[in-house]
Amino acid sequence: MNRYVEDVIAYVKRKYADQKEFVQTVEEVFASISPVIDRHPEYVKADLLKRMVEPERMFRFRVVWTDDEGRVNTNVGWRCQFNGAIGPYKGGLRFKNNVNESIIKFLGFEQTFKNSLTGLPIGGAKGGSDFDPAGKSDAEIMRFCQSFMSALYRYIGPDIDVPAGDIGVGGREIGYLYGQYRRLKGVFENGVLTGKGLSYGGSLIRPEATGYGAIYYLEEVLKAHNDSLMGKKIAVSGYGNVSWGIMKKAAQLGAKVTYMSGSQGYIHDEEGISTDEKLDFILALRESNSKNLKSYAERFNCEFVEGGKFWGVDDVDIYMPAATQNEVDLEDARKIVKAGIKYYLEVSNMPTTAEAIEYLKENGVIVAPSKAVNAGGVGVSALEMAQNSQRLVWTAEEVDARLKVMMQGIYEKSVDAANRYGLGYDLIAGANIAGFEKVAQAMMEQGIF
Ligand code: NDP
Repeated sequence: MNRYVEDVIAYVKRKYADQKEFVQTVEEVFASISPVIDRHPEYVKADLLKRMVEPERMFRFRVVWTDDEGRVNTNVGWRCQFNGAIGPYKGGLRFKNNVNESIIKFLGFEQTFKNSLTGLPIGGAKGGSDFDPAGKSDAEIMRFCQSFMSALYRYIGPDIDVPAGDIGVGGREIGYLYGQYRRLKGVFENGVLTGKGLSYGGSLIRPEATGYGAIYYLEEVLKAHNDSLMGKKIAVSGYGNVSWGIMKKAAQLGAKVTYMSGSQGYIHDEEGISTDEKLDFILALRESNSKNLKSYAERFNCEFVEGGKFWGVDDVDIYMPAATQNEVDLEDARKIVKAGIKYYLEVSNMPTTAEAIEYLKENGVIVAPSKAVNAGGVGVSALEMAQNSQRLVWTAEEVDARLKVMMQGIYEKSVDAANRYGLGYDLIAGANIAGFEKVAQAMMEQGIF
């Protein structure tokens, strides 16, 4: 590895020893871009990598809200404006009790390169809170969102920073957040948030975009291996927003998702989670805030394995982890290899531990990184921003078609970047390099700061 890259990784490990997710992602991205640094000594002179690991700005704020019993609750909120070199900061908000500074920083760092990879002019950001919407009433969630936005509104804007949803932040939360922003600012500036409802400037296909994009990317991988989606069986972790989009697009294109999971166990539905009735059931289950995945098995007469994880099942062709970070460790990777799985596409952010990725690759599994596979979500968010600024509404077909072209572009850019650096068919390194190149160039051209 390039000496400068090694030094910066060592520096980050020392300086941020307590931020394991952040350190892990820096190590992964910078190890990939080492050959780029070899060819660009000017980046070393400009100390580019050390500048890149520091967010341009990061806020931490108090979020106080009153619950239905009249008790006062205090949570912590964050917004990390990681890198604005190529466009306004853009990235989701995550509301979950395990959110901390390390997770926000890792997501913001990843987002920077992912956004660059989409080819659209958007910088990288992330935010959220250790507030968990699960089990909260609608009124409590509204009060929390209003309080969160009261702290954040003066630091965001359509040309400054455009938050969106992530885990725990869906259409309902975005609605409350936008309502409060509009109330405080007194302007109809709907380009300030994406993932909005259709009645006030949301984009068609945005709820499905991440999952649809993942399937379009998968199509490209399969094509490159003289294979196709038709008849393929897929195991997807999670049954959230992203997993649902995967199931829907897979069904439209002749494949089917036969496994899905939640925190409490997994479902095996050999018929495929493909019909409108099943997909609507999942949507309703999520919106109900109920974690009762078992009710799907009861309703559709299939298997529910309580407390189980499906890593290692061999009656599927493709694995797509789409739930959370570090859901697949080395032990799981061994099971996946043993099951003879050929394609492993990360969809959630950093679902695989570093050792597990290494093991999968060494054993011939084709691994695609989440940074590329899930980029359709933020890509369509950028299309939502474009529609808002032009006061236009594109049809579902138009957005879907643009998404498909975007995902094909991301795949091609990744393959091309890995080839240019003599790395062969390495989708992980390719995505990191392609994402890095544009941000690096923009930072160099904008001077030292
Ligand atoms: P949701 O909150 O809608 O869904 C998350 C799902 O993961 C839920 O079904 C949850 O089940 C499940 N889950 C959580 N922990 C575990 C676990 N340990 N084992 C198995 N299942 C688990 O989130 P999204 O679908 O929006 O996001 C999923 C991932 O995709 C995240 O990493 C997110 O950052 C990433 N992503 C999302 C984008 C988007 O457009 N939404 C865009 C790009 C990336 P349960 O309720 O039972 O806990």
